[in-house]
Amino acid sequence: MQITAIETILLKIPYDNGGPPWNMSGTPWSTLDILMVKVETDAGVTGWGEAFGHAVNEGTKATLDTLIAPLCIGRDPTAIGPLMRELRQRLHIFGWNGSVLYGISGIDIALWDIAGKLAGLPLHRLLGGAARHTLDAYASLMRYTDPDLVAKNAACAVERGYRAIKLHEIDVPQVKAARAAIGAAIPLMVDTNCPWSVGEALEMVRRFAPYDLHWLEEPVFPPDDHAGLASVRAAGTRIAAGENVSSLGEFKKLFDAGAVDFAQPSVTKIGGVSEMMKVIALAEAYGVTLVPHCAYFGDARSPGALRAALHGSRSQPLRAMDRGEGRQGGGAAGTWSRLRSRSGGHREIPQPRYDRHALIPGGRDEDHRTAHCRGADPAGDADPHLDPPYHRRRLPPRLPRD
Ligand SMILES: [Mg+2]
Repeated sequence: MQITAIETILLKIPYDNGGPPWNMSGTPWSTLDILMVKVETDAGVTGWGEAFGHAVNEGTKATLDTLIAPLCIGRDPTAIGPLMRELRQRLHIFGWNGSVLYGISGIDIALWDIAGKLAGLPLHRLLGGAARHTLDAYASLMRYTDPDLVAKNAACAVERGYRAIKLHEIDVPQVKAARAAIGAAIPLMVDTNCPWSVGEALEMVRRFAPYDLHWLEEPVFPPDDHAGLASVRAAGTRIAAGENVSSLGEFKKLFDAGAVDFAQPSVTKIGGVSEMMKVIALAEAYGVTLVPHCAYFGDARSPGALRAALHGSRSQPLRAMDRGEGRQGGGAAGTWSRLRSRSGGHREIPQPRYDRHALIPGGRDEDHRTAHCRGADPAGDADPHLDPPYHRRRLPPRLPRD
């Protein structure tokens, strides 16, 4: 059996975030940008993967088309481990992170999709079987900057049934507004995307203290300043990080430094399902809660990142799940819905049939639609599967503040 063709496909889906488009990368985000990777074989089985991601999609696509795909043509798609190791080794000089690794991730996910189709089994069965059938969800809001918009969208998400909220704000008035809007009982997380020095982050921990953050995500630049992150954590806040970690070895360094309470590997960035499962095992060995990051905008019908991350999470008894899901076509609340097992309403995990059509976007798999509609219903209909209130007692304890 051989890989005969690899096609990369860019998708852009209109998107409303409930406020002005966030301009994180120089271009305002007004569409959900997704890079699909289609791997075809001489056996007639096609695998779908997804490679990170949005603003860097064009770069990842070029890397896949010109560098990675030619090395995969003619190779055995069922020998995933050897091929992934070879790709990493041969291409490492062109980038041990970034587009090279993102592209490899997309190939790996597609090959696992092929493996599932060949076996006639969903991915989680290949990974050891299901430990759960639902995952909780929290609403992850874009950065609005305007405190009124933050409050409005946070309240809207709670109204829609979410039982935990994450912001992407970097100042106190916005966090204060969100806390006031959602009340004291709803867990509130703040993802800052590496804006501060260690000293600045320590100051922000002090200023955020009245708002009882469930976690502070990536407060320090550069993202590999593990010691700095550990010192912020030691100041008394739970830390989440890992979406910018590029390898199993880097996660070990992160854990050895005692830098995180929540590890967030991204299946589309770190090397696909293969590397993700190694990180999950490592996190378990270190007793660190795993909250997989995922490509921002894939939805539950898409065949790539979400499915891979969902099925990886499903096979793990104690792991959590984190993933972005865009509101398509002008949704009202402007949230990303992030699937997690420990902080909010939960979602059914799709059970694809894994026939040749099961992973085609917009395909006919009923379970795709079920998961998608329950996960991002623009009308805000009540979700009959919302889980019981969030259980704070299961979370890692805060460190002493003094
Ligand atoms: Mg983040």
